[in-house]
Amino acid sequence: MLDPSHTPRQLNWNRVLLNAFWITLLVHASSRMLHSHVLFPDVIILGIVILLECIHKWRPKLGEVSIMAGSYVISLFVTVLTASDILVSPLIMLLPLLISMIYLKKSYLIASTGFGLLYMITQLGLSSVHRSVQRSEIILVSIVFAATALTGFAVIRRGQDLIRSLANSEKSEQDLRIQNIIMDRLSKIDALTDLYNHKTFHEYFGWLIDHQQSNPFPMQLAILDIDNFKKVNDTYGHGVGDIALRQVAATMLKHIGADDFAARYGGEEFVIILTSKPLEASYEIIERIREGIANLPIPEMEGKSVTVSIGMHDLQDADSKNHVFQKADDALYEAKKTGKNKIVVL
Ligand code: GH3
Ligand code: MG
Ligand code: MG
Repeated sequence: MLDPSHTPRQLNWNRVLLNAFWITLLVHASSRMLHSHVLFPDVIILGIVILLECIHKWRPKLGEVSIMAGSYVISLFVTVLTASDILVSPLIMLLPLLISMIYLKKSYLIASTGFGLLYMITQLGLSSVHRSVQRSEIILVSIVFAATALTGFAVIRRGQDLIRSLANSEKSEQDLRIQNIIMDRLSKIDALTDLYNHKTFHEYFGWLIDHQQSNPFPMQLAILDIDNFKKVNDTYGHGVGDIALRQVAATMLKHIGADDFAARYGGEEFVIILTSKPLEASYEIIERIREGIANLPIPEMEGKSVTVSIGMHDLQDADSKNHVFQKADDALYEAKKTGKNKIVVL
């Protein structure tokens, strides 16, 4: 499974945060230039941001943790180095809080809150009792900080709630898609033989005939009917009859090509549509099927086999669907009438 801490989406957020660090550095450097000309601290912050950029590029797995740690170091630097002249500078301590919120991680927020509060308490302890202005300033910043941290916990809970509900809806959507595929298959496939069913045959056959008329291509229809199948059922039972039907279907699938289509028409009748080859090539395939079925012993029938009679028709350009079917059916009737276990082409 993909580690969520360096998925493309997460890496994108790391990039956004690194950009925020660059902006912080720029703002800080400009404000220091106005107040003093010592840019030494900014050089250190610059070094930290460059280090974070390198980690982001070459060790993306550590990107998130390093950005979090970087935010502590940068905020500490900024606030320690400017605290004496700008009293609200401890507000930069909000940076780790905001980053924790962006990562939606409670553990980061707890650490950032602890880090910030520790800093405020230290500042309070260090601030002179005589400089009550500074103390009240720190208390005010602490209140803002605590309120932001509390809001942060609520934001993270809300975010995680949204992520959960998104995951749930994604899962139900996926389940629905799988269910649709199964339903679609069930509505197209014959459960006993795993061949296409009657309805799908008619849809596909109609579609092929329409195409045939606008853009002629070689196509043949074969109808297969198991010989004396009633006797098989009567002698060995319906269960064995079903096994024979499955064997016939499997033999058909074994011999047809990628351009052909086999379906169970109903009962012990099957159809095969053969395309993209002349009648002779299709006839060879159908003959292999006939032979294959006739030579396939069925253990449940004491090793005997079943045979099939086949009627075939080679499509001509102007043939309608009904005409093609009728011709193949007439050929099948002829095969039955003249001895069974044979192919008749009409
Ligand atoms: P013919 O050589 O003239 O085709 O004779 P036949 O006995 O095969 O033809 P008939 O139409 O008299 O009988 C077909 C039999 O196929 C009757 C029916 O019980 C059986 N049958 C139809 N569907 C199924 C099925 O799903 N399973 C089983 N076991 N038998 C089926
Ligand atoms: Mg029949
Ligand atoms: Mg039959």
